[in-house]
Amino acid sequence: MAQSSSFPNVLFFIPDIGGFTKFVNETEISHSQHVISELLELLVDSNEIGLEVAEFEGDAVLFYCTTPPTLDKLLAQAKKMFLNFHLHLQEKEKGRICQCGACARMHLLTLKFVAHCGPANTMAVKGHSKFIGKSVIVAHRLLKNPVPEAEYLLVTQETLDRLDDRQAAAVAFESGSCRYDEIGEVPYRHHSMACYLDELQA
Ligand SMILES: [Zn+2]
Repeated sequence: MAQSSSFPNVLFFIPDIGGFTKFVNETEISHSQHVISELLELLVDSNEIGLEVAEFEGDAVLFYCTTPPTLDKLLAQAKKMFLNFHLHLQEKEKGRICQCGACARMHLLTLKFVAHCGPANTMAVKGHSKFIGKSVIVAHRLLKNPVPEAEYLLVTQETLDRLDDRQAAAVAFESGSCRYDEIGEVPYRHHSMACYLDELQA
């Protein structure tokens, strides 16, 4: 950590789509890819706090920003993406004609968020800049964690320590921690997003 601390702090924010079972036929693959690309675009369009897209990664988007928002703003951003995501799925389900496995199970998709802030640097690869260093690795490893639910915002303790208003968020965050090979123990806090689904029923 000491050798990388001269790099600027970057907040990595990864919305990650889950809930897909593996599909069997070509139609289902192309339909599921279509749904996922629509959802990834929707996540980008829901960005309100100046996040930049570093990369699209299968079922996830690696967002970053160099001026980390407050925790309240980060949570509001996650909520905005979460509600837009589920609103979109509800509307697709209402108008659904296709009976293929991908389309029929689309409304079961879930969305979780991981946020980690730490020193990071970029490296140029074929005209694109790519993040390197421990912080971006930690952000990705955190996508696998023991949080016992499908939809949540997970923020590392290291991130909370770097945000100004870490006491300010009015909502409850539970504590957790996970040990990763070559990284060690990563303490974090997580907040369930499921409660916000009620707001879509209105
Ligand atoms: Zn279909």
